[in-house]
Amino acid sequence: MKYLRFDDGGGAKWGELRGEEIAVLSGSPLEDGIRTDETRALAKVKILPPVQPPNIVALGKNYAEHALEIGGVVLKEPVVFLKATSAVVAHGEDILLPRTHPDEVDYEAELAVVIGKTGKHIAREKAKEYIFGYTAANDVSARDCQQRIDKQWARGKSFDTFCPLGPWIETEFDPSDVMVRLKLNGQTMQEQSTRDLIFDVPAIVAHVSGFMTLTPGTVILTGTPAGVGMARTPPVFLREGDVTEVEIEGLGVLRNKVCRE
Ligand code: MG
Repeated sequence: MKYLRFDDGGGAKWGELRGEEIAVLSGSPLEDGIRTDETRALAKVKILPPVQPPNIVALGKNYAEHALEIGGVVLKEPVVFLKATSAVVAHGEDILLPRTHPDEVDYEAELAVVIGKTGKHIAREKAKEYIFGYTAANDVSARDCQQRIDKQWARGKSFDTFCPLGPWIETEFDPSDVMVRLKLNGQTMQEQSTRDLIFDVPAIVAHVSGFMTLTPGTVILTGTPAGVGMARTPPVFLREGDVTEVEIEGLGVLRNKVCRE
């Protein structure tokens, strides 16, 4: 099932997507939202972020090739960081190059997990029971802040608009071998299967829930494949007018335009 949040002019609503038609829900499917008799046309609504996460947890260096391209080593334990929830934007909204640090903003295509049930110390074999569904994410990053100025990642990963999510959440999805792709202005920059994840989805849920309580709506970004802009020669950073598309096989395309703040 595909679930989305949208605004039909009358405020935020949840819906079930069936082809080009949305069946309106009485509330969030993460709570007790159920189908109503109302429908809307997908083409006539504004798509909102598919979830308002209580936390956004992200993994770094989770594809070996990417860990090596940015001069890292392949880790024995996942490296985990947080992105501010205020950074979330929807499919179709703009990524803003920050007024203070507009020059080294980079893309990162990622498969995102949406948690459906509260859990702590979740065993790998039980991970699936705690996952509501999956969506696409762009872990937008200001490399100057992340790498040189701050030397930790809070600001570089959390400027407003630095976490596009969507367009919707797919609940029937096998994340073990799907292509994660990023296109910049139509050109493929990243393309790798999730089978190359160092820590797969069950391992990630087990690891993260080993130190923090996962609650419904929590989003976990699973890491980005090789091909980020900063690792290219010469580097490729986002510029005003660019269009990024994160395409996860079976999940659809998350498209955002780049503008100046
Ligand atoms: Mg990332």
